[in-house]
Amino acid sequence: MTLGTDWAIAWIRRSADVVAEHRVELITLDREIGDGDHGENLDRGFSAVVAKLDTLPEGSTPADVFKLVATTLISTVGGASGPLFGTAYLKAAGAVAGREDLDSASLVDLLTAARDGVVLRGKAAVGDKTMIDAWTPAVDSAARAAEGGQDEKSVLEAAAQAAETGARDTEPLVAHKGRASYLGERAVGHRDPGAQSSSLILRAAVEVAG
Ligand code: ADP
Ligand code: MG
Ligand code: MG
Repeated sequence: MTLGTDWAIAWIRRSADVVAEHRVELITLDREIGDGDHGENLDRGFSAVVAKLDTLPEGSTPADVFKLVATTLISTVGGASGPLFGTAYLKAAGAVAGREDLDSASLVDLLTAARDGVVLRGKAAVGDKTMIDAWTPAVDSAARAAEGGQDEKSVLEAAAQAAETGARDTEPLVAHKGRASYLGERAVGHRDPGAQSSSLILRAAVEVAG
């Protein structure tokens, strides 16, 4: 089994649905340690993406899908998360450029490039209480699964599970990047909204994989 353009489109559609379903939850998390707009930012961005998916020409590759997502998120999502997720999809597109079907190793390339894009843009390290605390364990876990010979869906499952644990593990942390970093100890006990939305998006990738 390999995952192609249909999967990439389904992933983005499912991401939009999941973000819409969890809009209030993400807003609530961001109200606790940010400015309360994360759910709205992502919902607006992914709705705009879905509206554009039908404009993709016949024969588009997964990279074309991710490029469309990137440019749309960057232009429609204000706040930190627009450029961060936008860069993630842009780098993901670059990593799988020209490939029509993505095998386990390609998925690891995609996830690694996405994470590296967020780091390039936001300069956060693991433990800073950001979306990187979901992405980096996801990449590491996906890489281990692929090296162990696991299939595409198992690689994505490994990524999603690690991201979910990573998001939960932001709760006891003090933030060192983003708005939550202004709160010092007051951020302790709250989950980072961007880590949570990242885990939802990575879970969506599995749900539509075969
Ligand atoms: P804003 O903070 O501008 O309102 P959002 O609420 O949409 O933007 O997104 C906030 C999320 O962005 C945070 O929960 C965090 O995960 C992520 N974030 C913020 N700054 C950084 C950074 N420098 N690196 C990685 N992620 C970051
Ligand atoms: Mg916010
Ligand atoms: Mg904001």
